[in-house]
Parts: sequence; C-alpha cells; structure tokens
Amino acid sequence: MLQQTQVKTVLPRYEAWFERFPSIQSLAEASLDDALKAWEGLGYYRRARFIHQAAQRIMETYAGQFPVDFEAMLTLSGIGRSTAGAISSFCFQTPTPILDGNVKRVLKRWEKNVDLKGKQLWHVAQYAIEQACDAGLWNQAMMELGATVCSPRQPSCQTCPVSEHCLSAFDVDTSLPTKKQLVKDVYWQVLIHQQDDKGIFLQQRPKQGIWASLWSPPLIELQEKPQQKPNHIHLLTHRRLHLYVNTDEFDSDGVEGQWFHSLDAIALPTGIHRLFSSLNLKL
Ligand code: SF4
Repeated sequence: MLQQTQVKTVLPRYEAWFERFPSIQSLAEASLDDALKAWEGLGYYRRARFIHQAAQRIMETYAGQFPVDFEAMLTLSGIGRSTAGAISSFCFQTPTPILDGNVKRVLKRWEKNVDLKGKQLWHVAQYAIEQACDAGLWNQAMMELGATVCSPRQPSCQTCPVSEHCLSAFDVDTSLPTKKQLVKDVYWQVLIHQQDDKGIFLQQRPKQGIWASLWSPPLIELQEKPQQKPNHIHLLTHRRLHLYVNTDEFDSDGVEGQWFHSLDAIALPTGIHRLFSSLNLKL
C-alpha cells in the first residue's frame, strides 16, 4: 500500500483492509470487485489485483500458508525479487536484500559508482547484507537511510551514521540524472446515462490498461483534442486524462455493462468519482 502512497493516507486504509480481510482465506474467497472496492481511492489498482491473485494462489498451491521459500514467493503475483527480499528478511531473517530506489542510491554513493546497475548492484547489495547481524533490520535501515539522510538532492553526510565507510561522504554527486516522466494526453468521451428507474449505466474496464477492472461509464477514446473544455482532467503517472461528458440518448440493449442504483459494492476510479462530484451526480 505504501508504494507511491503517503503513510498518512495508508494508515486508516491498512486497518480497514485487515478488518475486511482478516486472513488470506477471506481475501481469496472475496470477489475481485470486493478487493478493488476496499482499495478504492488508493490508486495503482494493479496492487489490489495482485494481492487478490496471490491470496488465491496461496490457498490453491500452499494450503493457505504464506510460503517460506524465497523462490516460491517469487511465483506470487506482484512479488519481485526486492519485495520477496523484504518479506523474507523481515519475517524469516534471511540475508535477502531489498533494492528499491532509495537503497540503490545509497549503494551507488557508498561505492562511489553511479554506473552500478543490474546484476552488479544486486551483487553489492547481497555482499552488504551478508555482513549484517540482523538482515531485516539491515534492510529497514538501508531504506530509512535513503529516505531520510541520503536524499537525492541534499544528502546529510554530517549526520550520516555511515559516513566513515562511504566513499562519497562529503563529496556527493547530486546531479544524478532523474528520470523525466513523459506524460501523454488522452481524450475520452464519457457516456453518462442515468435514469430514475434504472440508475446509472456502467461498464467494467478491461483487465489490462488504464483503470483495469474498475467500473466506469462507457468511455470512448477521441483521436483529436476537442474544441471545448474538458469537464474534468485527471492525472495519472504517465497519462493526463481529459474527460468530456456526453449525455445523449443511449440504447443500452446489447451493450456490455450494467445499471446500478448504488455504487456501494463496486470500485470506480478516483477520476470518475471526481467527475461525478463536479457534475453533482449522486446515486
Ligand atoms: S555519507 Fe553522505 S553520501 Fe554517504 S551514505 Fe551518508 S549521506 Fe549518503
């Protein structure tokens, strides 16, 4: 939950998630819609889909017990080498490193080698953790060091507890290239159909792509930017979504989707919730 999301946003949601899904079994038995609903508003819904899939796999393949084996963890959806390293070191004290953005930066500075990457970086991380008495604590300390002391632009070498051992101490190249995100503009017509007796017509988005598996009014991608102003603009990591409402008459016969009187049991993207609020559309 904390990936790309602030701690203060996550805390109440974390507790609510475990109230709703107190065990792996309860999550595995829930529908994907239930999992997405519990995740609603946190963004990056891929994470909720992965956790749900992983819970089902743990029930089917590991009799409901989270696997202890590192290689087995890697077979679970959404768990890569770094996440498996975290879980394994925190829970089972294995010398398995984490290599998130903060830790990468610390290790590159430690070795004074900005070109370290891939296998070499993993090798350095592995060597380092093998010197630690407590692998879980080591991983947490490395992440914390990168997040609070060895920051990208203003590393605080004066207060750094490892400055004696770091090859870049007091001589840090802070001009490290930062990745520039390319944001693409996307123009969507949003077909809003609401009837007193039926509610609102929504479609479930495809399993892949933007807003995957969430519910929204039918969306039509426009090839050109319309002349009029959009009703709402929603920003994602790599996309700027321009939403244009269309309320023309609509025949839903034969169109995939459902009418809803209430949105309580389904998850909608934050962009659509905001669009509905701006239109004062209530259900
Ligand atoms: S001494 Fe400076 S560059 Fe080295 S790890 Fe500490 S804060 Fe980062």
